[in-house]
Parts: sequence; C-alpha cells; structure tokens
Amino acid sequence: MSYAKIHLDVPLNGPFDYRTNGLSVVKGSLVEVPFRNKKQVGIVIDVSENTNVETRRIKGISSIIDVAPLSSDYITLCRFVSEYYCFELGRCLFVGLPRSIRMNRLGKEYLENVYSLTVSGRLEIAGTLDARARGKRRLYEHLLSNEQTVLADARRIYSNASKQLTNWIQSGWVKTEQRNLREFMKVDRAISVTPKKLGLTESQIRSVDSISLDLNGAHVWVLQGVTGSGKTEVYFELMERALQSKKQVLMLVPEINLTPQLKDRLQRRFPSERIVTLNSGLGDSNRLIAWEQARHGVASIILGTRLAVFTPLKQLGLIIVDEEHDTSYKQIEGVRYHARDLAVYLSQLKNIPVVLGSATPSLETYHNVLRERYKRAVLSDRPLGSLPTIELIRVSRSESHTLSPQVIHAMQSKIDDGEQVLVFINRRGYAPALFCSSCQWSVSCHRCSALLTLHKRPDHVRCHHCGYQGRVPSRCSQCGNQDLHDLGHGTQRLEEEVAAQFGHARVIRVDSDSTRRKGSFEAMRQSIDQTQVDIIIGTQMLSKGHDFSNINLVVILGADQALYSGDFRATERQFQQMLQVSGRAGRGSSRGQVLLQTEFPDHPIYQHLIGHSYDDFAIDALKERELSDFPPYSYQAILRASSPSSNSVENFLNRARLCALDLKSEAIDVYDAVPAPIHKIAGLIRGQLLVQSTLRKPLRIFLKRWMKEISNLNESGVRFVLDVDPIDV
Ligand code: ADP
Ligand code: ZN
Ligand code: ZN
Repeated sequence: MSYAKIHLDVPLNGPFDYRTNGLSVVKGSLVEVPFRNKKQVGIVIDVSENTNVETRRIKGISSIIDVAPLSSDYITLCRFVSEYYCFELGRCLFVGLPRSIRMNRLGKEYLENVYSLTVSGRLEIAGTLDARARGKRRLYEHLLSNEQTVLADARRIYSNASKQLTNWIQSGWVKTEQRNLREFMKVDRAISVTPKKLGLTESQIRSVDSISLDLNGAHVWVLQGVTGSGKTEVYFELMERALQSKKQVLMLVPEINLTPQLKDRLQRRFPSERIVTLNSGLGDSNRLIAWEQARHGVASIILGTRLAVFTPLKQLGLIIVDEEHDTSYKQIEGVRYHARDLAVYLSQLKNIPVVLGSATPSLETYHNVLRERYKRAVLSDRPLGSLPTIELIRVSRSESHTLSPQVIHAMQSKIDDGEQVLVFINRRGYAPALFCSSCQWSVSCHRCSALLTLHKRPDHVRCHHCGYQGRVPSRCSQCGNQDLHDLGHGTQRLEEEVAAQFGHARVIRVDSDSTRRKGSFEAMRQSIDQTQVDIIIGTQMLSKGHDFSNINLVVILGADQALYSGDFRATERQFQQMLQVSGRAGRGSSRGQVLLQTEFPDHPIYQHLIGHSYDDFAIDALKERELSDFPPYSYQAILRASSPSSNSVENFLNRARLCALDLKSEAIDVYDAVPAPIHKIAGLIRGQLLVQSTLRKPLRIFLKRWMKEISNLNESGVRFVLDVDPIDV
C-alpha cells in the first residue's frame, strides 16, 4: 500500500496522509481529496510505503487533477517561504496557484467559450459608441486589448456584457468560438520581425557590460539609475541575452497599472517572444492560461506584480525587479512575503542573476551594496534632457495643502506655453476631517479609531480604513451645533480649487476613487499622454514609473506630513516618493521644474532632495538607523493580534510576551505589547508586539519555536499573525 503525504490550503500543519488508491501520483501532483466532509485540492509532496497514522483512519485520494505536477523548485521555494515567514507550508504552496486550480474548476476538457473582435468590429464599433455608453466602451476596449475574452471577465467589466456581445455578434463585429486550454501549451514562436532598438548611452553600455559578465550564476545587481535614465533599456539588453540562450525572464513591477504599457514596449522590442502578464487583474481563465504557458516554457517573458514571483519557471535565467524599493512588493495579508526578497532567494536557488532597479533603492538594498553583498551599476544622467530643478517654497502649516501664489503663477505660465502640470497630493477625498466649530469634536468612524473623510459628488463621509460610507452629519453629535467645518485638503477639493483658479484649463484627477473601474486608469493615462488635459491632480498612483513626455512642472503639496510620522521608515518613503514624483517632470525636450511647498525648507531631507542626492540621503538615513539599531542593522518581526475585545488582545499579547521571554536567547529583544497605530479598525481592537535581533539566525530559530507555543495559547476570539520583516511598525 502506498501513501501520499499531502498539503492542503488550511491553517494546519500538514502534511496529511492519504491512500494513493493505485493512482499514479508523484511529488508535486495536484489531487482532490476528502477533508472534513468536503472535497479539497491537495498537493502531494511525498509518496511513501509507510505511515504513522492508524491505517483504518486513512482516506483515499479521490482523483488526480489533470495538470502537470508542480516542480521541485517550486516546492523548495514554498518551503523557504513557510520557514522564513512562519506560515503553514500548505498555505504557502497555494498562494501562487491560479484560482481555477485552487478551486479545481478546470472543467473536464478545458473547453470554454471565448469572444474576440472581428476585423470589422475593430474598425466599426468605436463609431457607434456615444459618450454616455461608458460600460460598452470599457467592454470594447477590453476586447481590443485582449485577444480573447471569456464571459465571466466580460461581465466583470460591464454587467450587461452578455446581451451586448450577442448584439455585436449579430452585427458581425464579435465572433465567438470554443477554446481549448491544451492548445495554448503548444509553442508558437511568432514570425521574426526586426525590433526597433535605441542606441545606448555610454553609461547604459557600461551597466549592460558589467551585469552581463554575471549572467551565469547567483548574483544580485542593483541598477541605480535616476528617473528617466533609461533603466528599462538596460533591462531589455540583459533580457535579450538571456532569451538568446533560450532562458525565460521574470520581470516584476510594483503596480498592475504599469503592466499594459510595459507589455507593449516589451512586445515591440521582442516581437517573436511570447509575453504573458500575471497579476490580480486577470480573469481566472486568462490567468490559468498565462500561468500554464509560463510553466511550460511557452511564454519566455513573464511580467507580473508581486504574486508572479511564485510562478514555477523551468528555464528561468534572469529576474528583474523594477522599482525594487516599492512597498507594494510586500504582501500585507495572508502569507506576508516580500516579493523582492523572494526574488533574491530564487536567484540563489536557480543560480541565476537578479537585477534590482530603482532611482531610490530601499535602505535595506542600499546597505547590502555598501557591505558589498550586492553589486551596483549606476546611471546618473538622462539620455534625453536633464533632471528637473527642485525648488522649495516656504509656506505656513495651514497653507501647506493649498496652492501658494508662487505656484499658481508658475502653473499659469506652463499652461500658457501648452505644457502640462502635475499636482501631487497624497490624500484622496475632499477634506480629511470634519469638525465642530464650537466644541472641537471631529467626526470619526464608529467602527475605527480614525476620522472620517469628506467626499463630494455625491456628498458623503467615508472611512479610509474599513470602507464605511455614510451621510454627512448635519449637526455635532456632542453639542448639537449645526456648524460643522471641513478641514484640510484632499484631491477633490484641490480639483475644485484648481478648476476655479484656472478657468480654461482641462483638469483631471487620478486617484484610487477616480480609477476604480477597470480600464479607467489606462484611459486617463492615454488622455495625459495625448495632451488632452492640462492639469493632472494625482496621488502616489502617478508617481511610479510612468513616462509622460509633456509634464514640465510638478507641484508637491502636503509633503511635511511624513516628518511627523512615528514610523522610522516614513522619511525614507517620503524621500523616495518625492524623488519619484519629481521624476515625472521634464521627460520631454525642455527642462522640468518641481515646486515643493514646505514649512521646513531647511530640513536636511529637503536639502538632499533639491540636490537630487539620493546617496547622501541614504547614507545619512542609514547612520540614524544604525544608531537606533533599526533595520537594516537589525531584523524585526511583529506579532499582530486583533479581537472585538481589547482585554483579549491585551491578554493574548501579554501571554505571548511571557512565552517569548521564556524562550528567547540573549540575542533577542522582546518589547512591550502596544496598541497598533490605528487602534481599532472595523470594530476590531488591534495590538502588536515587536521582537528584534541584530542576528538573523537566532531570530529565525526563536520565531519558529515561539509560533509553535503561541498556537497553543487559545485566547478565545483573538486572531493573530506574525509579520516577519514588517514594513509598518
Ligand atoms: P527609467 O525607467 O530609468 O525611469 P526609462 O527606461 O523609462 O527610464 O527611459 C526614459 C526615457 O528615455 C524613455 O522615453 C526612453 O525611451 C528614453 N531612452 C532610454 N534610453 C535611451 C537612449 N539610449 N537613447 C535615447 N532615448 C533613450
Ligand atoms: Zn460640537
Ligand atoms: Zn472605519
């Protein structure tokens, strides 16, 4: 009799033993098994003739899921994630799998109906859409940018998709057919076309040459290039070399919004390669196809957000992590991995190079460069034009979020010259607070320890932490006063002010509210690109990686906020963000200008900023970190707990703390349990406990033992999670 050791997607320590029932399963096989009266998908990690479980209690595998087994490298990676981040291996193994596999929704034949545009549809639909038909337009745009679409995805984009598609089919604009997933596994290298290549600058050539020497072997390279310095061209050259030796390339980007543009650019540069994108915006079926194509080597370039690091790639030869400092590489729910760090691990596992690119490398990465664990290539100039000038404008605190006269003047003259202006403010909504003029009470969320934000069009208040939305209160709930004031500036208010100030200018607001709908970000990006707007008001959404050629003035408001933050990483993020957003200016032919309003123009952070001196900033900041034993000079883990009862949270954390004090070695510091920075969210009280060590290894050993103990604490109603290498403290 043989038994399969199987991991399931459950928060329990597996593996679980099952009889193979004569099915030919191997390590990595995906199977369906009975578990707690339900069918569950499982992953076989071993097959053996022995078991320690009483044999009559062992159930049998129900069936094998008809996909190729997972590779042993994939299992090794997940094992590392499980060990390092202290999560059950079962959960880690499932994180990166497409939902169709996790849910075993493959269907027998892999057949499904797909829709695509016909040639006449491509030409004629656009002319039939009137301005109000937004849903139809989104559907049309989706069909344009996807070769094939399944109904489920179409519905997600436009609720009335089914009827609309039928209409278009009747007009001959859309055709439908059955597609078979298996067919997508065939390699079909397209015809070779000669790509357009840019002539590289000297520093680009130097970077390519030095990194190329390391294409065989586990090397970590940092490509530190100022914004607009042409890092992407360097990536492309390196990719070309890897692709020539029939290797696959994994390219990670921080934001899903960056993928369509980059995919186009990649496809133009590598016309004969199959490129797939993997991100959470894909429909289940397209994601499954992309994942399988990547896994079977049909796709040679895999472009994706953090989750893509889990894609099993047999021929992987090079990993690129663009904007490596970006915090969205850290997963903050479920298994809390960091995709950049996993990319570095993967490079060792596969013995291949990884390139971490950024204008503003994270201090962790920077530290590794200084310690010579990572090598660095530098691009200090832009091939086109030069870096923008950054000027500081002194304002009082109360004016820091509104446009100062000097800024208004500068904006006007740019607009008069037909150039675009980007106004950056990192707060959405209309006003971040509503308060009573007589008793100073502020309107806060009843479920969170946080203020409600006022939003307009339509008027309502919203909690940015739990998502609560409600009517704007008409009176103060403390004193009954009817005179509630809105305080401060968000993007909506700024939009209103800008529209009033610059009557004839075309204004667009780009934040997570205005871009909620699928496809709307891309539409806005295009209207900026095609200079259909003059003034862009945007949050950090726009600060990343986008290449706009006509923005010549960037205005930064509300920058000082980070200086008040309690998080030791706040200034690092602030600096990165300001330099990134500044980098949006002057990418075209004329020199860009940045105006930053601050109450503290003499603050060293701003002095480094105006000199574009990221290195000086980083070295200063690292000195401060070293003095306080903060990362990267120490390693941290935070135990986060939540419960409706604050007593339970406190009890749990205190018990966990005692337990830690018991177990810990000398190398480890255990701090006091404290409330989380936002103490209550959605009715749950949140607390946290920090442990820290200057040595990685003892901390890992400790965390493993500690988590084992903690899982036995059984404090009722308390949920907890360990966050290793947290990015928010
Ligand atoms: P980064 O990613 O470093 O911010 P990009 O790779 O987006 O910069 O390049 C910025 C701009 O410079 C792009 O428009 C790109 O086409 C252009 N560019 C890059 N390298 C060259 C080059 N060698 N010659 C001319 N233009 C270049
Ligand atoms: Zn009041
Ligand atoms: Zn709330």
